[in-house]
Amino acid sequence: NGSTMHVTNSRAALAAHLEATGGCVVTRFPPEPNGYLHIGHAKAMFVSFGMAKHRGGRCFLRFDDTNPEAEKQEYIDHIRDIVSWMGWTPYKQTFSSDYFEELYQLAVKLIRSGNAYVDHQTAEEISAYREERRPSPWRERPMLESLQLFEDMRRGLIDEGKATLRMKMDPGNNNYNMFDLIAYRIKFAEHPHAGKGWVIYPSYDYTHCIVDALENITHSLCTLEFESRRASYFWLLDALQLYKPVVWEFARLSLTNSITSKRKLNDLVTGGTVKGWDDPRLVTLAGLRRRGVTPEGINAFCRELGITRSDSIVHLHKLDFHVRAHLDAVSPRCLAVLHPLRLVLTNLAPDYLHHVHGKVFPGRSEETYDLPLTRVVYMEQADFRESKSKDYYGLTLDQPAMLKYAGVITAKDVVRSSSGAVVEVQADFKPLEAGAKPPKGVLGWVGQPRPGVEPSSFEARLYEPLFRSPSPADLGDAWLDDLNPDSLTVVPGAVGPPRLTSAKVGDRFQLERIGFFYVDPDSTINDTSNRLVLNRTCTLRDSFPK
Ligand code: ATP
Ligand code: MG
Ligand code: MG
Repeated sequence: NGSTMHVTNSRAALAAHLEATGGCVVTRFPPEPNGYLHIGHAKAMFVSFGMAKHRGGRCFLRFDDTNPEAEKQEYIDHIRDIVSWMGWTPYKQTFSSDYFEELYQLAVKLIRSGNAYVDHQTAEEISAYREERRPSPWRERPMLESLQLFEDMRRGLIDEGKATLRMKMDPGNNNYNMFDLIAYRIKFAEHPHAGKGWVIYPSYDYTHCIVDALENITHSLCTLEFESRRASYFWLLDALQLYKPVVWEFARLSLTNSITSKRKLNDLVTGGTVKGWDDPRLVTLAGLRRRGVTPEGINAFCRELGITRSDSIVHLHKLDFHVRAHLDAVSPRCLAVLHPLRLVLTNLAPDYLHHVHGKVFPGRSEETYDLPLTRVVYMEQADFRESKSKDYYGLTLDQPAMLKYAGVITAKDVVRSSSGAVVEVQADFKPLEAGAKPPKGVLGWVGQPRPGVEPSSFEARLYEPLFRSPSPADLGDAWLDDLNPDSLTVVPGAVGPPRLTSAKVGDRFQLERIGFFYVDPDSTINDTSNRLVLNRTCTLRDSFPK
């Protein structure tokens, strides 16, 4: 909003800003490289990258790296990769640490203008004093003394925890964030990007607004928890006479039965609860990608969410809805059987082989794939019952069914194991006659690639939400007790036709009636090994009661 900008920016600062941007919208997405990004970050990216794109402007990817202990190169690399996977192209990639020298010089300027002082209170003392609205005993020390001590801090002459630089704000203010926030602290830690040169590190509150100004950000978009920090954001830019961006807050996104906090995600990963940051049960973007979710699906979901200001927990089914819509458009269909039951078509010869044509995109294209039909085929265990009942359209001894694309089967007999379970169904096969009415039950099936050769099997991994409670983050310390024991079901012996079993990592399929699937990187497909693992991204239909 332009009018506020004119009022609150000094003429000189605004002129320099407009010179730099040419009046373009400039935004930034500023993740801290202290973990992998999650679905909430997809929303933040949609807001900042999306706004720049929509307005013909530009968006920085800024690594907000001011906490060296928590940050790692692995996370930097991952963030680059996943931002691009999400479809966003940063105007530039920058690091808050790129500005360490400038930030330091500005801190000196802040001290010189009487707007910062070196403090020696411990963290506990600072919070105790804050509670009582009592200023630090060091607050009124001479400016030159602070200047010297800050220099000593920088040179490593003062021990960790023995001094901080604090902004001289407004302790009487009702806003806690106006009570002399810390600008710098001492940390004898190497920095993953800036290297070994620094032993003092600027705080988020000090860094963020300054770097926004230095990068000529026009719209600084962040989540609502930062609203109470607006005052300090503008206070500091005013004190330094820097240009002030427009600040907008939007609601944080969380999803039901999930965790969207990097710290808790980190606990799950390092505690071994899940198999890594990209475990398909996590709502990290790496996990969603591995599960088979597409960036188009995620961005469609974010578009629907909009830039609301009311915090809410969004139902996982909303995400599934958009993911399903995109997967339906891009996933070739294929028949497969998760829990195979042997079906012998007794009227076919042992060497019978007929190539049935399955449709890749029924109704949309003529493309087909090969479904070998042989005397022995496999069908789902759940699609056979000995006797029929209301609303059951599967095969029974008194109800025929249709093998999809192939023909009609009529069950004649069963073979039982010693415990009495049906292990084989024997049936008559007949192509569907032209004009004849097909049976109501249309079944998936998988034949042998050649007569007498068993179809290759694959492992299907089926997922349920990782937590039982809709809002595990609200359970306090008990959040880890809320894990869903059934979040992963491994089905080892699923079978599919050659088209499926020759798939490559990253391929997607709509396995008819079973769900959308994605070929997991755990698959080893080469000359000596053929282990295929498919993740179910989501089911074909929403089972959520509306
Ligand atoms: P976390 O608590 O998960 O560590 P964070 O806010 O500390 O989150 P950052 O890496 O600093 O994580 O976030 C980068 C940007 O993404 C910030 O602008 C932040 O506001 C935004 N963001 C983070 N989490 C969410 C979320 N759940 N919903 C929307 N935006 C988010
Ligand atoms: Mg942050
Ligand atoms: Mg954080």
